[in-house]
Amino acid sequence: MAQPGSPSALQPELAPLIADIQSRGLRIEQTGETTRVGGAGPSDAGMISIEGVFITAPVGAGFVADSPYSLREDVFGQWAIFKDDERIASAEVAARPEFYDLSTDDGIPYWKIALLHLDSLASTVVQTCAYWGTDDQCTFCGIELSLESGNTIPAKRPEHLAEVAVAAKELDGAVDITLTTGSTYGPDKGALYVGRCAEAMHNASGLPVEAQFEPPDDLDVLNRVHDMGVSAVGMHVESFDPTTLAEIAPPKARTGIEGYFTAWERAVEVFGEGQVSTYVILGLGEDPDLTVAGCKRAIDIGVYPFIVPLRPVPGSLLEDLLPPDARYTESIYRQVVPYLLERGIGSWTVSAGCARCQACSGMSLIEQELVELSAPEETRTLIPVRSVD
Ligand code: SF4
Repeated sequence: MAQPGSPSALQPELAPLIADIQSRGLRIEQTGETTRVGGAGPSDAGMISIEGVFITAPVGAGFVADSPYSLREDVFGQWAIFKDDERIASAEVAARPEFYDLSTDDGIPYWKIALLHLDSLASTVVQTCAYWGTDDQCTFCGIELSLESGNTIPAKRPEHLAEVAVAAKELDGAVDITLTTGSTYGPDKGALYVGRCAEAMHNASGLPVEAQFEPPDDLDVLNRVHDMGVSAVGMHVESFDPTTLAEIAPPKARTGIEGYFTAWERAVEVFGEGQVSTYVILGLGEDPDLTVAGCKRAIDIGVYPFIVPLRPVPGSLLEDLLPPDARYTESIYRQVVPYLLERGIGSWTVSAGCARCQACSGMSLIEQELVELSAPEETRTLIPVRSVD
């Protein structure tokens, strides 16, 4: 099976198609277990494969109703992507994970503890954030929305997460674990509890774990989290444009872009180059030159900037915004990915988490394209995908 976000061979028309679907959304008539609404990270996400490439795409936001793209069965009864009424690509919809049918001894369904995001087991271990409902709430975030919907519980216990990890690996082939958390006012910003959860899950399942949290005030916390068995960390600055950052994430702006670089430098010392990442969200009104320059500076110190288009979460403060045009997103990818490759960092160097999975971004498609262009002796596989224009 192809890995999320990674086609088995160069597919030259696929990158713009996927970028456009991730920008304009995908209408799905039958959702099943392919969607996730609310939460941090790839929320409001449909999870499917298109021509063998696993992606996530917006499916629930209001703007998706105007998208020309839909997922439905073709005349052969197979899932396919249609642009208006034209079939443009094959699709595959993941089956409901088997572990979703299990519960803990005290009756908590496993799917309320962790979800399978394609082949990564993901959990928000504390589903509340100190900033939620205050002037500091990040405008793009939906962390407490899934709590309000009843789809999860406020805090997950390490022992429960451990048994879910074992089940997800054994029954559904999970290959890694992605853990995130709401922030706290404590000096560790919630990182140590994520570490405890990671330790229990890693010890029980052997799966590598990415832990995501705000930069702790005390950077020694990074060593402690590493000693708990975490192999990759995400500390997400979200934007390299300080004006945009102040507008969308006041607490992160107080840490400041320099504060993130300080934390990343320490994290790279502890976890290694390519094992530290940051989300970089496009479409927030940011300056593209500052964005590219910030990504390159992060790459220089061994940090993977995981670039994604804004995916407005229904119910979040930015729910009425539209994702950026796919051409803008692709232009940023094409300025940053070659620099990553020159530095020897790629999705394949990341041991766990969002930058390993890649399904929310089109970066790995560009990465794959460039790698194959530099090795022209490799056979290209052309696929029956039409241009989106
Ligand atoms: S710090 Fe911001 S992005 Fe993170 S959980 Fe809290 S509100 Fe959401």
